[in-house]
Amino acid sequence: MNNRQTFILLVSIFICAGLFSQTSTIGNSLKKNVEILASDSFEGRGFKCSSKALTIDFLTREFAEAGFAPLHGSYQQKFMDFSYLAAAEGTNIIGVIEGTDSILKNEYIVLGAHYDHLGWNMEDSVKVIFNGADDNASGVATMIETGKKLLLNRSQLKRSVLLIAFDGEEAGLKGSKDFVDKKVVDLSKIKVMFSLDMVGMYKKNDGLNIVGLYSLENGTNLFADPLNRSGLKVKKTKNSIERRTDTKSFGDKQIPAIHITTGLLSPYHKPEDDSDSLDYKGMSRIADLVSDYCIVLSNEDSLMASNAFATTKDEANDAKSKTNNSIFSIGYDLGAGSNYHFYKNEFFNAKPVFAFEGGLSSQLKITKNFILQTEINYEYLGSESVFGTMRTHSIVPAMDLVFTTNNKRKDGTFFFLSAGGFYRYNFAGSTDVKNMSVFSAYNHDEFGVKYGVGFQLKKFQINFHSKLGLTPIDKSLPNSGVFNRGKYISIVRFF
Ligand SMILES: [Zn+2]
Repeated sequence: MNNRQTFILLVSIFICAGLFSQTSTIGNSLKKNVEILASDSFEGRGFKCSSKALTIDFLTREFAEAGFAPLHGSYQQKFMDFSYLAAAEGTNIIGVIEGTDSILKNEYIVLGAHYDHLGWNMEDSVKVIFNGADDNASGVATMIETGKKLLLNRSQLKRSVLLIAFDGEEAGLKGSKDFVDKKVVDLSKIKVMFSLDMVGMYKKNDGLNIVGLYSLENGTNLFADPLNRSGLKVKKTKNSIERRTDTKSFGDKQIPAIHITTGLLSPYHKPEDDSDSLDYKGMSRIADLVSDYCIVLSNEDSLMASNAFATTKDEANDAKSKTNNSIFSIGYDLGAGSNYHFYKNEFFNAKPVFAFEGGLSSQLKITKNFILQTEINYEYLGSESVFGTMRTHSIVPAMDLVFTTNNKRKDGTFFFLSAGGFYRYNFAGSTDVKNMSVFSAYNHDEFGVKYGVGFQLKKFQINFHSKLGLTPIDKSLPNSGVFNRGKYISIVRFF
């Protein structure tokens, strides 16, 4: 071997060693990332666990170290969630790999994977942590891995790729929904979305499931070559978009959305879902397949929703009825009826007079049969007796527990019974009773109960209710037992 040959051999060895070490670092980081995310110190990455900050810090650092760029100057997209009575902050972690084509780089392929899991429980005073290695540390690690592979082949990537670790998936697809609702990037620029959710059990499931390929025009054909090159086996495909994970949020906005998973042969939502049970080789091959497919898609002149998907109005309608069916809504209410003074200790009663109420209402759907409805109304009511007529103006906050037939039906209709309480502040009044001013005789403050029946058609509610005062309102004769009794029919319009 002459000097020149020796030199070439040495250079080749260095290049090979370099390439090898690069590939093996990638493989190692896949496993390392799962081990960290699914370690006990991350406490199962529960949406509302305080330890979630660890996950957020870790992923932010990983995204930066991997070389993904921040979006609009930050890796973190925060959002607030107000369901389940207490407010909580959510954080999506977002990184960008910019495409190399001067025009196509303005369009995005989204690679998503939710990072939250179920947190932990106390069972018989033992802390049980749901580490969620397959669900979904596997998806997050594989997404980061895919991003690293794309960076290595960036010269071939024409469109830009957004890598998003979504928060709050287990709590109801909250992170992905917020991302599309807020239009963090112009939704018309997102050409396709992938969700990697539970990709760590390739061997056990003996294949992959690809759900929603049809939503992308020519998506199945374009997938054939990368799939062949990967040598991976696809076990199940399904035409419809997967609605149990983040693909739903994008599909509802008519964005083609493809769910990739190794399936449910997994310790799904069990405390045994730990990092030592995953198939890291399989995950690395899935990262190869997804990065290859991304590059193929990024090179297409145009990426569009398939006709079949674009004309599937189901998703859009579902999305619509979902908004009608949102957990919390606010509206206004108007009611009319009658009110009279009930004299508990007398043989006579007053006559009812016209009563009116109007104000703001809110509705919190707690379960499919149970709603908390609150309102704050202005009320105009009164009573007529042989001595004359009396009228009051009041402010009345009230709260009802509402027991409903299934209130989550798609068409948004249900019937209900309600029961609750109110406080009435009588702030002004008038009377034609001689020698009497209203508040010399009557209290400003009053408490009472209410009950009713009604039905709701999407955003309209009609209810009949009675309001029974429990505080005697006549202060000049505390034992007289004079109480307000009212009946109303009211319409509530929720936005
Ligand atoms: Zn999941």
